[in-house]
Amino acid sequence: MTSHQIRQSFLDFFRSKDHLIVPSAPLVAKNDPTLMFNNSGMAQFKDFFLGNGTPPSRRIADTQKCLRVSGKHNDLEDVGFDTYHHTMFEMLGNWSFGDYFKKEAISWAWELLTEVYKLPKERLYVSVFEGDAKDGVPFDQEAWDLWVPIVGEDRIILGNKKDNFWEMGDTGPCGPCSEIHIDLRPQADVDLISGKSLVNNDHPQVVEIWNLVFMQFERKADSSLIPLPATHVDTGMGFERLCMAVQAKMSNYDTDVFQNTIQVLEKLSGKTYGSDEPFTDIAMRVISDHIRAVAFAITDGQLPSNVKAGYVIRRILRRAVRYGYSYLGFSEPFFHKLIPVLSDQFKDVFPELTSQEEFVTRVILEEEKSFLRTLESGLKRLDIIMTSLKEKETNVIAGDEVFELSDTFGFPVDLTALIAREKSFIIDEAGFQDALAAQKARSRQDAAKEATDWIELRESDGVEFLGYDFEETHSHIVKYRKV
Ligand code: ATP
Ligand code: MG
Ligand code: MG
Ligand code: MG
Repeated sequence: MTSHQIRQSFLDFFRSKDHLIVPSAPLVAKNDPTLMFNNSGMAQFKDFFLGNGTPPSRRIADTQKCLRVSGKHNDLEDVGFDTYHHTMFEMLGNWSFGDYFKKEAISWAWELLTEVYKLPKERLYVSVFEGDAKDGVPFDQEAWDLWVPIVGEDRIILGNKKDNFWEMGDTGPCGPCSEIHIDLRPQADVDLISGKSLVNNDHPQVVEIWNLVFMQFERKADSSLIPLPATHVDTGMGFERLCMAVQAKMSNYDTDVFQNTIQVLEKLSGKTYGSDEPFTDIAMRVISDHIRAVAFAITDGQLPSNVKAGYVIRRILRRAVRYGYSYLGFSEPFFHKLIPVLSDQFKDVFPELTSQEEFVTRVILEEEKSFLRTLESGLKRLDIIMTSLKEKETNVIAGDEVFELSDTFGFPVDLTALIAREKSFIIDEAGFQDALAAQKARSRQDAAKEATDWIELRESDGVEFLGYDFEETHSHIVKYRKV
């Protein structure tokens, strides 16, 4: 099955079970101050679970564009180093709003995986919430009783509160989860009997694919739990991981979701993916992952900038550009050249990218040009710093050096940390924060001195927008000048 067919089969399957198929919400979270980017399928339905608003149907399914690069879910550091965590990914999901519950959710998940996708049953494992007496949440007997006749006790792993209990926040709806994992290790070293103890993270080829959340409790402010008047189902399955399983590949990057992009990278760089160069492979994985995050963020309205969500996108873009520069030999802009292949690949699923292809390409090209102007001198500077530290037999890059790299050369702090890590150096993060704070204090003083020239005004007041002040993650200082 191609990835298109895999996605379509998911939607068709749930349509046949009376689900309404809805479009993905934008990647950039709207109207939710707690979230920068949508990081799960349920985010757009939050209000329905909280009782604010009525869903258009009590059964819904979709594929949601997700981004996990900030806040509670931040997978950025793993991307490219493992083969199944992405920045942007699609989360396939089905929901019941006070309609069906565990029995249907479990049996449909199994039916879809084993009968439609024909995944080998002997490679699937499930997890069930073990309970937490201290927290007053019981063992999920109901899920256990439903799974035993399907998979047998041997294939059920008990999971703790961290992995198998979902809570929206300190208060509100919550409940146990059941996850489905797949063991993709080559047959030769699959120990199917003791394989039971293997879960996600224990082995790169044993991967969590689907999480079924059963909302059945409400956490009150005094931390007690009461049953919800109506129970709900919220599921999320990683589309790229599902493609890896269905296409029997060892890595998400070997599926047709990423191969088109990797092939373009091979052509542009003259290097081969899967050769013996570890950093060539990591670079191609990082770049083919990051282009999706950057492209869809811009498409959905988040331009790269120096503040907040915009800065997160700029950081991702600069990481990718620097991997291309350092490991694939790209000293000229290349990242934007990956847009046509993505646009073509997603034209039927997320046509919003295709319709803005030219704009997205232009924004990325401009960003690349501006970063490439300082990248080489920044890397040289960093090299000099590391060489002199080595002579002094230390491996900590001082905070003010990290600050200079960001301020003068446009190196986001995590990029400096990443390059440092590749050479066994670390950065003084606290020292960097001090240098940043000192710079802010200086610019506040300067602003006070020039109060007639630099003030916060709106453009309607007859001023010219000059851009944002440098800010790592914090408040939004906008500089304008009277014209
Ligand atoms: P993991 O333990 O692998 O980090 P998770 O438990 O954090 O996954 P969930 O929050 O349960 O993930 O999300 C539901 C599904 O989304 C997961 O079962 C997985 O298939 C997929 N998923 C989660 N994070 C990512 C990611 N960074 N890239 C690709 N798919 C992901
Ligand atoms: Mg995770
Ligand atoms: Mg997990
Ligand atoms: Mg999970």
